[in-house]
Amino acid sequence: MIEFIKADSWGLFEGMPRPWVIAGPCSAESESQVYETAAALKTAGIGIFRAGLWKPRTHPDCFEGVRERGLPWLARVRRELGMHVATEVANARHVEKALEAGIDLLWIGARTTSNPFAIQEIADALRGCATPVLVKNPLTPDLELWTGALERLSLAGVRRLGTVHRGFFAYGQSRYRNLPQWQLPVEIRRRFPDLPVLCDPSHIAGRREYVQELAQQAMDLGFDGLMVESHISPEHALSDAAQQLTPAALQEMLQTLVIRSADTENRHYRESMDELRLRIDAIDDELIDLLASRLEIADRIGEYKRQNNITILQTGRWEKVLERVFARGAERGLDAGFLARLFALIHQASIDRQTQVMHKGK
Ligand code: PEP
Ligand code: MN
Repeated sequence: MIEFIKADSWGLFEGMPRPWVIAGPCSAESESQVYETAAALKTAGIGIFRAGLWKPRTHPDCFEGVRERGLPWLARVRRELGMHVATEVANARHVEKALEAGIDLLWIGARTTSNPFAIQEIADALRGCATPVLVKNPLTPDLELWTGALERLSLAGVRRLGTVHRGFFAYGQSRYRNLPQWQLPVEIRRRFPDLPVLCDPSHIAGRREYVQELAQQAMDLGFDGLMVESHISPEHALSDAAQQLTPAALQEMLQTLVIRSADTENRHYRESMDELRLRIDAIDDELIDLLASRLEIADRIGEYKRQNNITILQTGRWEKVLERVFARGAERGLDAGFLARLFALIHQASIDRQTQVMHKGK
């Protein structure tokens, strides 16, 4: 159970069009860098300024943030520019210092969400606190770890809660620094329809040229907002230099985004959608029937193998199946990666059924 107050009454996003945007540098580095970035972001129409003070870095020789020293710089942005300010907290001491300095919004980073001890410590330090808290996804795609963090905060009486999808650690090379696994935030939205879901395209991307496409995907999925890293001089940033945008580039990026609404009253649209959805439902029914038939045949194959004392796994055969599937799939314009994932599941189900048949026969 997660109890939360809808974001419309947080005192942060009221009157702001979607997407709500939180922007600012990965790290606060100096008073002038903070102030100049914030002023340029304000000119670009941004109302909420972010800057990391305590930076969780992989290696001890990396820049680890200016820590408490940056709190008065954020307070100045708040006072002189009238922006709301946000920072990351990772332990009770950070919470205490940030609240004392009047920070408007806190976020919990991916590394911290991965650790229930740290989350509990933060929840205890925040007990009953009215300051909104955004919880980034943990490093691994573990939905329960993510919602568990929200539960700990909720149990401590923190009610202004939201989530940020920042992608997941993936071993090896890929287009992005962190893999977006959109099905996780989408599942959170399904379970808690009014809980704000934001996307941090910067940490998914790892490179500024990918930020726009990820922000657009988040908008297409109906995310409420974006947290984007922006630095007055990205190439000189002390952390995450490759993924930060100048305030002007951020403004341009935001202007390119196509924002779709969740629904419409348009009758023609609704009727066409209803018709297409009925067709999808019918196809899903057919798929279920086909899968059931396929597995029944797998049972029969299992039975023959059992009677003739043959092993279940015959890799040569499976390779032939895949070869056929890929060739046919390509003719129908189906993505090979999608087919590989789908048929891996089907194959596994088939093996499970054959194993059951073998055991039953014993
Ligand atoms: C950050 O927002 O600067 C940050 C460290 O993010 P994450 O926890 O997503 O890596
Ligand atoms: Mn960063």
